[in-house]
Amino acid sequence: MYKDGNVCPICGKGILKKSLIEEIFEYKGNQLKIPDYIIFQCSDCEESIVDNQTLKDSEKIIRNFQRKTDGLLTSDEIRKIRVALGFTQEDFGAILGGGAKAFARYETGQVTQSKAMDNLLRIVDEYPSVLNLIEKKVKKFSPSFIAPCKFCQSLQKKEQRTPSN
Ligand SMILES: [Zn+2]
Repeated sequence: MYKDGNVCPICGKGILKKSLIEEIFEYKGNQLKIPDYIIFQCSDCEESIVDNQTLKDSEKIIRNFQRKTDGLLTSDEIRKIRVALGFTQEDFGAILGGGAKAFARYETGQVTQSKAMDNLLRIVDEYPSVLNLIEKKVKKFSPSFIAPCKFCQSLQKKEQRTPSN
């Protein structure tokens, strides 16, 4: 968005100069260093503007740093759990709650999952059979949703073969 030599949008007088800095973020007493953080410094008013792409890239890094500090799953860990269970982002959101966009947002680092969602993810990761229970409920109350995961399909077949008494 901004370029070397642009007029400063804040004071309208100075000229912007690109520089690479090491930015340090603090969260709950922990520090995260981000190298190659691009900012544009004004020659006149001493303001500095963060490069848009840098801001976007560092959002995920910062969010994962906060997640680790808070004992939550990182975006990559969430993605691993979902992919291992054979779900698309949309279907996982429909089944576990949060909506169609929820997992895209967790995995790109736009949004941090709630503690409740984090717990649920750890449970379905460790005990995938729990998904069967959730899918049955989703089917009953949202009949338009018809995309059980591979894991549940195999479970349901197994159940049909060996009915419990
Ligand atoms: Zn300025």
